[in-house]
Amino acid sequence: MRIPPDVSAADFSMALAQFAEVVGKQWVFTSDEDMETYGDSYSPFWHEEEDRVPSAAVAPDDVRQVQAAVRIANHFKIPIWTISTGKNLAYGGASPVLSGSVVLDLKRMNRILEVNDKNHYALVEPGVSYFDLYRYIQDNRLKVWIDPPGPGWGSPIGNSLERGGGSTPMKDHFASVCGMEVVLANGDLLRTGMGALPGAKTWQQYKYGFGPYIDGIFSQSNFGIVTKMGIWLMPEPEAYREGTVMVPKHDDLIRFVETLSYLMDSDILRGTMLLESPLLTYRSAQGGSVVDTPGGPSIAEMEKIGAEKNLPYWSMVMRFWGPQQLIDAQWDYTREKFSAISGASFKDGRAYRFPVELKETDDMQRFYLGIPSLSVFAFPAGSQGHIGFSPIVPRTGEAVFEALKAFGQAYADLGVPPKNQFFSLPWTFFSHSFVLLVELQISHDVEKNRESRKVFQRLVEVAAERGWGEYRTHVAFMDKIADGYSYNHHALQRFRETIKDALDPNGILSPGKSGLWPKRLRKARG
Ligand code: ADP
Repeated sequence: MRIPPDVSAADFSMALAQFAEVVGKQWVFTSDEDMETYGDSYSPFWHEEEDRVPSAAVAPDDVRQVQAAVRIANHFKIPIWTISTGKNLAYGGASPVLSGSVVLDLKRMNRILEVNDKNHYALVEPGVSYFDLYRYIQDNRLKVWIDPPGPGWGSPIGNSLERGGGSTPMKDHFASVCGMEVVLANGDLLRTGMGALPGAKTWQQYKYGFGPYIDGIFSQSNFGIVTKMGIWLMPEPEAYREGTVMVPKHDDLIRFVETLSYLMDSDILRGTMLLESPLLTYRSAQGGSVVDTPGGPSIAEMEKIGAEKNLPYWSMVMRFWGPQQLIDAQWDYTREKFSAISGASFKDGRAYRFPVELKETDDMQRFYLGIPSLSVFAFPAGSQGHIGFSPIVPRTGEAVFEALKAFGQAYADLGVPPKNQFFSLPWTFFSHSFVLLVELQISHDVEKNRESRKVFQRLVEVAAERGWGEYRTHVAFMDKIADGYSYNHHALQRFRETIKDALDPNGILSPGKSGLWPKRLRKARG
């Protein structure tokens, strides 16, 4: 059995016995087989020393048990790593940053405390999954939508705390959080926002309460354990429709993105959209790649191929949710605005009216309709997972050109063919910016993983040279990413460390999360 770092075997077995008294013996896990389920099935360190492995897992059933477990951990200085449903794949799954941490698994705390379909919000515990919430809403015939991420088996709490994204107009998940309950490192319990009022009546209706707004410091963080969270939902819309906008030329992207930004920030285009390039997809199917590797065809040559094959350089599926009349008008207006780009063309897409029968929907597209699904796991053959490289880049055509060029050069410098990796064009998960979601392939082959890690490191550096940074990262790379956010001698990190030291002097909560270490484990900064 593995033992947490700096803890004696005798203390650890005493702590395990005390955990068992609190949660019940059957909810403390230590066997190798159990630990495998708390590892990272997309680990970039498969079969290598640096793979992150926990020592044990403890699964409390309620808030009082969480408080008691934290007090035990404090007494023995045992690092605990909190998960909600532990499905954070591509970013570490259930596994901790620090090997030997005890996973605090909150899956059993899966109560849906309220779903309100008049004010459109829910109050949930950490173990509630998107599937659970969806089923509850269906069973109770409530007229609200949730916003599941790609794989729907994760939890609103875990995903929102990681600042994950969805596909409907509620796409920025942390922006939809309204009110939290948090267990602190000393076992104290607090409620944020209006929840601090005894007998609060608007905990899930007004975010800020009174005084400094603190909810943000519990996201991507190790300052507390969130045991309840409010999330805003949206009313079931009357209808949904899609339409594709296509433009023929490379440089059309500049005005394309300007138009997109205008429509997004005017609330005419909502939800998550993906920039696509039928022409670049064609190039990669011919053995090239989406990114611009040196020596590839010139822009003029590409445009010629586009004209011959009738392939637009850029395209995007626009999505509309709401009353039929309104979304028809929004699509009309969207077409009018993009028509200013010479050669722009348009195609109508899927349309639904709600409620809709599941069998009438396309499995690969269900999340746009607020329906959780696992269809994203239909991976290409041979892949055993991926890690995500996810930089936020400016929402401009120029930045997209720069990214394709710079990342293409990076692959060439490393001598790695970019076609082995899934390189996406920008998504609009978050307002006012683009995010690229690059999937670097993971397998059980040590050499291949080394290559993916090498590519990851280089892409991070290339992004940083341009003032771009990741919005989220895998547990194995948290130090590296945090190090990049270094303005004024790491002022932001020093501020976070001050809070960490005050809240968690024994350094028990998720050491290393987001590159934030407790004092006793902190490495000297270069
Ligand atoms: P999901 O299963 O919803 O994808 P996870 O449960 O894997 O999400 O959680 C993702 C990350 O968020 C964890 O690695 C952890 O750092 C953080 N986290 C999850 N749940 C909590 C919580 N209840 N309190 C504090 N941090 C949490």
